[in-house]
Amino acid sequence: MKYIVLIFLLTALKVHSIELVFYDLDSLSLDGQKTVSTWVKRSLKKTQNTLGPLQQITLPIYLKPQYIAFEPVPWASVKRNNPDGLELHIDRYANLNAFTKDWTLYHELSHLYLPLLPYTGFWLSEGFASYMQNVIMRDSGIISQAQFIQRLNAGFERARLQTKTKQQPLNELSSDMWRQRAQQRVYWTGAAFFVEADLALQKQGLSLASVIKRYQACCRTARSSAKTFIKELDKLSRSSVFTTLYAKYNTRTDFPAVTKTQLNKL
Ligand SMILES: [Zn+2]
Repeated sequence: MKYIVLIFLLTALKVHSIELVFYDLDSLSLDGQKTVSTWVKRSLKKTQNTLGPLQQITLPIYLKPQYIAFEPVPWASVKRNNPDGLELHIDRYANLNAFTKDWTLYHELSHLYLPLLPYTGFWLSEGFASYMQNVIMRDSGIISQAQFIQRLNAGFERARLQTKTKQQPLNELSSDMWRQRAQQRVYWTGAAFFVEADLALQKQGLSLASVIKRYQACCRTARSSAKTFIKELDKLSRSSVFTTLYAKYNTRTDFPAVTKTQLNKL
């Protein structure tokens, strides 16, 4: 009997624990190494508390420590490979508190829960990460519910403003986002999509995080078309929430009406 219990415990540990593999950690001071490894480990835990276990055995973290930086994480990106990893440009002198309050790592970790989508679907990838970074920070107590609403609303305001000058259909603008510097509209219209999805799922007793958790556990592929991904989420939520919203958002040229009252229900 004891033997069976032990096996169960080991399996459970393996499912939930991901091995973090740091590159260039030794270019930091001993204190810096401790700070950065603690920060990444805790951030991964916070992310998994909201979105469920990430289905990869190792997570490579490529560090690019900077001597002069104006924020704790001035730049970061996902390195798609087998397994996916993160490149983090960091202020080598930032303390644990400053790292913890920075949104960037929660954003990048959220990206790992979705497949790589084509450029026209970047509004989905960036929208998900931009919304989820705030959900993770709220859920883990780094920001309050009031700050959560304020941050989403501020993003939506920036997008509303940019929509006045960048009026292409969202999918087309997504594929030309860098050249046009249209990040605000692309990221935050995408975030509004996931806010609307979360609100609609709530009415069915579900949440976006719970659907993504299922998706990660069963069905996440390395790459996907936006349509296949969206259909999969509908299947998992036994709803038409995602395809209905996708049809409204993919080629839209305006910014959706999302109110603070709606945000407060999240
Ligand atoms: Zn991103």
